[in-house]
Order: sequence, then C-alpha cells, then structure tokens
Amino acid sequence: MSLTSRIKGLEGDAMTEFSNFQTIPEYYGENVFSLKTMRNYLSDKAFSSLSKTITDGGKVDPKIADEVADAMKTWAVSKGATHYTHWFQPLTGSTAEKHDSFITPDGEGSCLLKFSGEELIQGEPDASSFPSGGLRPTFEARGYTGWDPTSPAFIKEGPQGATLCIPTYFVGWHGEALDKKTPLLRSMKALTSQVERLAKILGIKSKQRAYATLGGEQEYFLIDRDFYYQRIDLVQTGRTLFGKEPAKHQQMADHYFGAIKDRVIEFMEDLDREMWRLGAPIKTRHNEVAPGQYEVAPIFENQNLAVDHNLLTMEVMQKVAQKHGLACLLHEKPFHGVNGSGKHNNWSVTGPDGKNWLSPGDNPHENERFLIMLCAVIKAVDTHAGLLRAAIASAGNDHRLGSHEAPPAIISVYLGEQLTDIIEQIEKGGKAKSTKAGGVLEVGVDSLPSLPRHASDRNRTSPFAFTGAKFEFRAVGSNQSLSGPNIILNAAVTQALDEICTKLEKVSKKDLNKTVQKTLQKIIQDHKRVIFNGDNYTQEWVKEAKKRGLPNLKTTPEALKATQDPAAAKMFEKYGILSQKELQSRNEIYVETYDTIIGYEGALMVDMARTLILPAALEYSEGLAETIRSVESVSKTKMTSSRTLLKDVAKYTEEAIEGANKLETALKGSSTVKMRAAMAELREAVDTLEGLVPAESWPLPSYAEMLFIS
Ligand code: ADP
Ligand code: MG
Repeated sequence: MSLTSRIKGLEGDAMTEFSNFQTIPEYYGENVFSLKTMRNYLSDKAFSSLSKTITDGGKVDPKIADEVADAMKTWAVSKGATHYTHWFQPLTGSTAEKHDSFITPDGEGSCLLKFSGEELIQGEPDASSFPSGGLRPTFEARGYTGWDPTSPAFIKEGPQGATLCIPTYFVGWHGEALDKKTPLLRSMKALTSQVERLAKILGIKSKQRAYATLGGEQEYFLIDRDFYYQRIDLVQTGRTLFGKEPAKHQQMADHYFGAIKDRVIEFMEDLDREMWRLGAPIKTRHNEVAPGQYEVAPIFENQNLAVDHNLLTMEVMQKVAQKHGLACLLHEKPFHGVNGSGKHNNWSVTGPDGKNWLSPGDNPHENERFLIMLCAVIKAVDTHAGLLRAAIASAGNDHRLGSHEAPPAIISVYLGEQLTDIIEQIEKGGKAKSTKAGGVLEVGVDSLPSLPRHASDRNRTSPFAFTGAKFEFRAVGSNQSLSGPNIILNAAVTQALDEICTKLEKVSKKDLNKTVQKTLQKIIQDHKRVIFNGDNYTQEWVKEAKKRGLPNLKTTPEALKATQDPAAAKMFEKYGILSQKELQSRNEIYVETYDTIIGYEGALMVDMARTLILPAALEYSEGLAETIRSVESVSKTKMTSSRTLLKDVAKYTEEAIEGANKLETALKGSSTVKMRAAMAELREAVDTLEGLVPAESWPLPSYAEMLFIS
C-alpha cells in the first residue's frame, strides 16, 4: 500500500494527527530569537553588527539597540507574547524573572506595544530580596540586569500567553556580580585569552575566538504526582526525610538502559519537543540505575549557552512532568539507600583554530597542543581541588557524594592506562622509550600513539575523568547550576595556562619544543598525585589519597572553607573573575543556605514525626495490645511473639518520640553536625517503625510505591 493510500485509510483523529505532524527541523528553535530569525527581522547593518558581537564578544553597538528591541518585540508578539522579562540567575542557584508588558497607552484610550533598546539592554528589577552576601547594603539595594546577547532571547509559553525572555546578567550599583552568569562570562573571557595566547606561541593560525564547551548530562527521578503531594517532605525539601528502603530496588540493575515505560516515554517525548522548540540540542534519553531514575543529555555547546540551556531544561522538566501527572525530582538524593542524581559536566576547549584542544589528534602539532592542555587541566585540578569540591558543595549533594555509586568527595583525575603511560614517559623525560605505545615519544615532534576514542574510559567511579576528548566532572549535583563548577574550572585552567605561557614566551622558537617538554615534565612531577585510575569507591583509595595529601572534604561546611584560601582569592582577582568581596559574599551565602536547609529539614522531620508518624504508630500499638489481650483471654494461649512485636513497636515509638525531642533541642543550637546526627537518629527509629506498622496505616507513600511508576 502506498503512503497516500495509507493516510487516506486513516480516519478521524488519527488523520488529523498525521496531517499536523511536523518534523524536528520544522519546529526546532521556533521559540528562539536566533541568528536565523534575526536575519528576517533586522536590517543587514544591524544584523551584521549584532552577529559580530555574538560570535566575537564585545559590546553591543547602542545605535542598533532600538532596532533590535523592536524586532524582538515584533517577533515575540507574533508568537503570542504580551510581556518581556530579563531572565537572570541570582545566587539562589535557580533563575529569576519579573515580567513587564509591552503596552504603552496611546492617550486615546487604546495602546501601542513598545519595547525600547534601553529596556532591552538594562533592567532594574526590585530585586532587593535576593541574597547578596553583604555585597549590597539595603540603602543601595538596586540590582541591575544587563542583556547578554551571546545567549539568545526565547519565548516561554504560559497556559494562556507567552513571555519574551532575555538572558541577562545581574549586578549591583557598583558593578559587583550578584549572580552566577557574570563571573561565568568573566571566567570564559579569561580562559579564551590564555588559550589564544598559547595558540600564538605554538604558531597555530587563528580563525575564530576560542571558547570553552560544555555538555551537561542531567539525571532525575519521576514519580506519580499523587504520591508527591502526599509527601510533604518531597514538596517542601525535594527529598524524602523518612522512608524505608524497599526489598527490591536497584540490586538487579534491571532498570538501567531498560525499555522505557509508556508513561515515561510520553514525558520524554514532550520534554524533547519543548526543548527543541527552544533550540536546545537535546540528544539522549534513557533509564538510569535506580528505579524511577532517568537521564537527559544535550549535544555540547558554548559554555554560557549550555549553562542557560541546562537551567531551562530543569525548568521545563518540572512543567512537562506536571502535565503528565508526574513530579520530576531534581534533588541529589530524593531517596535514601538508592542512587542519587548527578549532573555530569563535560568540559573542553575549542581553540582559535576551531579544533577541540582536548582531542588527542594524530599529528605532532595536535599532539603538542593536546598534551599542554591535558597537563594544564591536571595542574589546575590538583592546585584547586578544594575549590572544585567547594563548587559542588550543597546540603543536597552531601547526601550523594561518597555513597551509592556516586563519586567520593576526594577530587582526583582519571586518565586511563594509555594516557597515564604517556604522562609517565613525559615525567621521565622526553626521550623515554614507550613500552605500551611503542616508539619514542617526544612532545610535538613524534606523534602521539593513536588513542581510540573512549577506549580507556571504563572507570565510572572517578569524580573527574578524561573521556576521549573532554573532561567529565561527575561530582556535580543534579540540582545545581552548572555555572559554579565551570567558573572554577575555567579559572583554574586559565591560571595553569598563564603560567605555562609565561615560561614558553621567554624562549626562542628553536628552544620552544625543549621548553614544552621540560615544563610539562615539571607539571607532572608536581601534580601527578591527583591522578588515580583505580576504584574511587574503595576505602583503600581514601587511605591512599590521605597519604598523597589530597583533601577529603566530606561536608559542605568543610568544603566551603576552601573558598577562604588566599590563593583562591588571588586567582579570581588576578583574572578579573571575582573580587575578594564578591568571593566572600558567595561564601557567606552558601554557608547560610546550607544552615537554612539543615534547619528547615530538621524542623519538618520533627513535625512529621509528631503529627503523622507517631500517631499512626501509637494507634497501631493500641490496636495490637487490644488484640493480644482479647485473643489471649479467649484462646488461653500466651502470644509470646505478638507481645515481642508489640514491645518492638513500643520501643521504636519511644525512640522516635525521644528522637524528635532531641532533634528539637539540637535545632535550637547552632551546630549543624549535631542537627544532622539527631536527624539520622530520628530517621532510623521511624524507618524501623515503617517496617512494623501495617502499610495501610502508614501515613506516607512507601518507597516501593513511589519508585515503580506504572
Ligand atoms: P560519554 O560516553 O563519555 O558519556 P558522550 O559522547 O555520550 O560521552 O557525551 C556525553 C556528553 O559530553 C554529551 O553532552 C556530549 O555532547 C558532551 N561532549 C562531547 N564532546 C564534548 C566537548 N568537546 N566539549 C564538551 N562536551 C562534550
Ligand atoms: Mg557521562
């Protein structure tokens, strides 16, 4: 049967669906004011000026601002937009927006729709309630949002209308960064300039600006929305504060990469479509290890855009889930005892030659460029391991790091056997004989033994792994903005490249190769302690890492201390990424956020224990006691085991009551360590009770119910 006759054969709804069918290219990016859209809406002059700003950086020509704003408005209105908003990223870690409508009364009882260049370029939301960590005293509480033309404006559709969203940075009166985008853009600029400097030294021709690339893999859980609403802990804190592990969860690994259930695939299809409409290059979707856990990943992009797209993905995921009667959980550890969720941060650099500089390549030139980048990253990670750990520190991620197939809190680098072999040869001196690769290895002269892509990466336990042509920072939490870790990575690699370039610039062309060899040799000697190819989940590694002097910062408060290191402040200051004050403000905000989260989680546990769980446990004890009494009196048998059961229920009920009291006392103090210990104690008593009290009397949906979507 031909296609047309098959279509003709379809009836009613199916026919309509078929004729409304659009291929991806037809709707991809339709909600983005992309270069392609701009070309249709802008004059040639304005278009070429703006596109140059976007690709090369620099300031927007104020002369074109009005035209661009008007074009954006016209396009947005044609998409149903009534409002615009500066979409920004305050230090809360999520995104913020305040909407303004386009209307301007015309004085005759009607209105015009207007949007000026001034409004596009700068906004002044009354944003005094965002955390500023003392950067912005209340008397000058103004915060300004400024247009970031390198991330395109987009349309956010609401239930009945639409809003034009303009990605912006957010700064205070004196230009101090109040957000996560500003330092990210600054760090990207710093990195670009060092990469271009190195290109010049190496004689690499420049075709374009260098830039960092990023692909963020996002893990998440889906549960039925009814269960979600029945769990006040999930609604309020994003994680289950109580909950007994189900008998079967992920032991069989039968969920991982398994066939995707219909209800879930419907969600995924919808999510993909919405993200494609927003021009985000979503590529993969699959089931993750834990039941109810999934992953979505894009194709990598320019770092700034990738961060924005990840934030947008997180937002759209929640909305789409709601539409499907599901709740999307982005917390790092929504369920105790099963895998948590991370966000793998795939990072690399595209040089001014347009090539990926972490791709080993196969000619001497590429080899040299690659090995310098590789060593720069090793040096960067070892020097600033504490800062990298701090960048991923959060109350949520603390539950994940170091447990159940999550990378440990010790930051180390995985290179794989082949690269380690090469690194060891460089360490011994350029002329060392290669045993594994065969032949003589001399940086930049002989070519690298060919490295089949992905051949080496079978180590899933490393927090920072080289995976073929990029580094993958796996310790990032699923709920975190990608800005933080990328700011630190960019900064640390910038510093390493700066030091390398300073050495290389001093020598003549003739001696360049020798100097590269020597410089890399020294870097490896100094920083090889950070390289670890073994199993990061073992106790032996914890011991070994200690011997090597690598920091093991287990909790957020410990990790955040790394931001107080004077060397960190010096680096951020030197490369214009964060001033001492800006750095300090972040430290203050993150410490306070951590304390706040522990505080409200603890308080909610006390409430839930007293008002939900204990009444159920007490009622069950009462019923059980009554049953034993009446059965014994009638049957004249002593119910020894039932009495033991009653004793157990009574015992854990008492423990839970005491636990709640103890936690309440701890919450009045200031030690989060004591609070966490009391939380764990209370949880243990309650989770034990959950295994004793009849399911129908238990006031919360169980893990088994929530984790297995049907
Ligand atoms: P893996 O098998 O190691 O997970 P994939 O090829 O599936 O590798 O990529 C995982 C993520 O890494 C994707 O988001 C991908 O786009 C991203 N990625 C690949 N190359 C680069 C690069 N050069 N820079 C940044 N991210 C990259
Ligand atoms: Mg990965």
